[in-house]
Amino acid sequence: MDRALEPEAKALLRAARARLEEWVEEELTWEPKRRSEGGQLDAPPAMPASAPSRASNPSGLEAASEARSEAESSEPSEVNRGKSGRGARPPSTSTALDRVRAHLGECTRCPLHQGRTNIVFGDGNPNAEIMFVGEGPGEQEDLSGLPFVGRAGELLTRMIENGLQIPRASVYIANVVKCRPPNNRTPLPNEVAACREFLDGQIDAIRPRVIVALGKPATSLLLGRDVSITRVRGAWHDYRGFPVMPTFHPAFLLRQYTQENRRLVWQDLKAALERAQAR
Ligand code: URA
Repeated sequence: MDRALEPEAKALLRAARARLEEWVEEELTWEPKRRSEGGQLDAPPAMPASAPSRASNPSGLEAASEARSEAESSEPSEVNRGKSGRGARPPSTSTALDRVRAHLGECTRCPLHQGRTNIVFGDGNPNAEIMFVGEGPGEQEDLSGLPFVGRAGELLTRMIENGLQIPRASVYIANVVKCRPPNNRTPLPNEVAACREFLDGQIDAIRPRVIVALGKPATSLLLGRDVSITRVRGAWHDYRGFPVMPTFHPAFLLRQYTQENRRLVWQDLKAALERAQAR
């Protein structure tokens, strides 16, 4: 290299490194603007090497809303486009979901009700084409009554908004159990069995084009057997006629924040979006 250019090259490198460190600091893990010219999602979002570290993330949310407005203003996907053009699939209304919620009532069907602050029924678009199913509410979800609002939820939101480039409000998010298990333990079989009819009711009301099962408990329930998530993720399965794509739970991803795990989750989410948009 020309010696005269060396200081400039070093300054550029320093600036680039500082920007990358800022991204890590901002927890900008699923970066916006990943569409190719044809509007296809082509590559996994750029992600920092280390897991996001803070519990709350105002700058990450800003990034998500930037991604949302970009996605909405430039190339809205089918999923973003609203509910016209859904072909033979008639739109659902929230009434069907409301009926499921009303039937759940102030549930005391299993012991989990004893420790709950709020029932976490589900959240999102009653006409969603993509439905995410997690395991059960954690502390923040129990306090707020909304699914996936803690750290794992923030990561899920970024994966949806910055990765898939669709608003979180365009999908529906629910859990296998609607009340928080003590110390966030895995729900027991009797708890899963007691709540099952409500997840089924949600699925039947929404009739999503695809279900993304997050982690082992959700996947085991939908596949009807005890699964190894590592073995079954990344392939299509069926739950009562609904296509199911299992993937790693965002909480697992936060614990094992490797390049490979992020790549695999991205691959699964991309496949789910493509299938949801296929006409
Ligand atoms: N983990 C889940 O499985 N569901 C939530 O709602 C939050 C964390």
